[in-house]
Amino acid sequence: MKTLCLALLMIVCAVAANAQQRRLKIYISADMEGVVGVVSNEQLGPQGFEYARFREFMTQEVNAAIQGAIAGGATEIVISDSHGNGQNLLIEKLPSNVMVVRSWPRPLGMMQGIDETFAGAIFIGYHTATTNLEGVRAHTLSSARLADVKLKGVSVSEAGINAAIAGHFNVPIIMVSGDDAVVKETTALLGNIEGAVVKWASGFHSARTMTPDASYELIRQKAQRAVTRVREFKPYKLLAPIELDVRFKNYRPSEVLSYLSIVERTDAHSIRFVGKDIVEVSKFLTFINTYELGLEP
Ligand SMILES: [Zn+2]
Repeated sequence: MKTLCLALLMIVCAVAANAQQRRLKIYISADMEGVVGVVSNEQLGPQGFEYARFREFMTQEVNAAIQGAIAGGATEIVISDSHGNGQNLLIEKLPSNVMVVRSWPRPLGMMQGIDETFAGAIFIGYHTATTNLEGVRAHTLSSARLADVKLKGVSVSEAGINAAIAGHFNVPIIMVSGDDAVVKETTALLGNIEGAVVKWASGFHSARTMTPDASYELIRQKAQRAVTRVREFKPYKLLAPIELDVRFKNYRPSEVLSYLSIVERTDAHSIRFVGKDIVEVSKFLTFINTYELGLEP
């Protein structure tokens, strides 16, 4: 009887260990400029005449990535709604076994919710950096206010900043979707990750686009392949300390931020901040893009 109990216990332990090993968490950061068909403001916010429909397309692209990821072996998924007001995804249209991060501000910005338990991260609906000559709605963090964001002296895209945040937690980026320019820009930085091109940019406010159904199918296939390949990818890590340079389109942000002793004004429109790691840099970026005295409540 005693030996039987011991044998049973060992089987239970082995099964539990196996289940633990098979746990595979995937993080999805969802932006909107790179969603199928998006070309202008009309799709990107509550004031646009097409926004309601394009929230649906954004949600379905995320759903396609979820389905692909699960088919590829994902067991747990967290999605961050990372565009505009952070309240775009129609959460009732997502499956019951995922979690969604909503609204701002949040310390890790477009990567809030990521930690070292994730096996890989996917970017859906992404766009190129403000310094790129190509791409629909090319901008970095704020199209109205920032003209350049550099990490360690190199201009970066949102995908670059967010890959470094994931890398801080040892999580690799495994896939990106958006226009041809963002897939090109992101694979140039991160290597052979999966890329889903759902439209081809012909200007800041113009593209030749697939239809939604075609983009969902493509994203599903790419996400499945990315998760199947998850162990091939390396985290994108920046060595500390991390020098951040921000160039504002306007004059006064750099003037006023330079009153802080942690900030150096490097020219009329630019400031420098040195963070001990990318998390500190992310909090600083969140701060400068959020803070205003009239914030209430
Ligand atoms: Zn964005």
